[in-house]
Amino acid sequence: MDSSVRGIRSLAHPRGPHTKAVIMHALTPKDIPSSFINASLRERRAIVVPELGDVVWDDLDFFGWRTPKLPLAAYVVIPVDGDLVGIVLRQVEQRTLARTQCAWCEDVTLPNDVVLFSARRAGQAGRNGNTVGTLVCEHFECSQNVRRVPPPAYLGFDAQAARRRRMEALRTRVTDFARDLRDNT
Ligand SMILES: [Zn+2]
Repeated sequence: MDSSVRGIRSLAHPRGPHTKAVIMHALTPKDIPSSFINASLRERRAIVVPELGDVVWDDLDFFGWRTPKLPLAAYVVIPVDGDLVGIVLRQVEQRTLARTQCAWCEDVTLPNDVVLFSARRAGQAGRNGNTVGTLVCEHFECSQNVRRVPPPAYLGFDAQAARRRRMEALRTRVTDFARDLRDNT
């Protein structure tokens, strides 16, 4: 089955049995380089896969990392429709002055910096220089941010349900971002 068909099926049942497909499974160093959709072969070979031994996969909606060797580069691997979509991002050098909200976790407590990243689209569009910009937590703290139990907003407020909704919303936003880069080529 091709990926567009899978995409339609999962959209038709956003809370159905296929929701499971977006949960983050443990990645191995072998999975990571081949998942990248917007990197040339040379760029893929240059990707430094971080140490994965201590990663708690259940606490992640996507896997993102930076590398000191290439301070403006950033990498994310996002589970989409049962596949992995790896994306190379580049931090746009100019730092945002005002405190900004992350487009993925939309955390309002602003525990970390949010920076502007740019990502090339997959395929010919990317080779033509077509990019997408997004404001995201500097070190991809999004999964931790949405897992903090929110303070009670009103009497009878279900904090655990609010936490679950934030996790789902984060997954939806990162998978939408990945699909947009992968499919609009
Ligand atoms: Zn975030």
